[in-house]
Amino acid sequence: MKIGVLALQGDFIEHIRMLEGLDVQGAEVRLPDDMEGLDGLIIPGGESTTIGKLAASYHLIDPIRRLAATKPIWGTCAGAIFLAKTIQVRQALLGLMDITVKPNAFGRQVDSFEINLDVPALKILGNGQSYPFHAIFIRAPLIVSVNGDVEVLTTLPDGRIVAARQRNLLVTSFHPELTGDDRFHRYFLGLGR
Ligand code: GLN
Repeated sequence: MKIGVLALQGDFIEHIRMLEGLDVQGAEVRLPDDMEGLDGLIIPGGESTTIGKLAASYHLIDPIRRLAATKPIWGTCAGAIFLAKTIQVRQALLGLMDITVKPNAFGRQVDSFEINLDVPALKILGNGQSYPFHAIFIRAPLIVSVNGDVEVLTTLPDGRIVAARQRNLLVTSFHPELTGDDRFHRYFLGLGR
């Protein structure tokens, strides 16, 4: 398997390390040619306005949309904003997933936080055990609403949605690549098998 990681800006190296830990090749994607032969794509956290602008100027929007027709795509944090069909501010979007996202929904950098979340979809990946996922939120977006066949994967204790899946598309408001827990990466790889 060869999984691309959009490497325009943000924490793409951390995703590549997680993939390598699972014996999967992680390929940095900066230009349309880098999209050749990918089995999936991860869009990292960072700054969604910057990632959107760079992706547009490097002509990556259409190749990513074409990949989404057949392969899994996962957006973490800024990547989740970029994947959304609707966001509550104006900026470049892939517009692929039937979710509405609110960027910076939890306030400023000082309002970043960590919390353990129950993610039922990860249960079979816990080596026979079920345990919460330690989720790191850094100026995170909120998934305000989901439409169509989008499945909610987990919420905060107050019910606000922070991870969702629509067929081969996955979004997390938080950063599994910053933990030692590879269950979300394995779950994502499973979407392509
Ligand atoms: N606040 C950033 C944005 O709106 C996302 C932050 C992150 O990816 N950690 O793009």
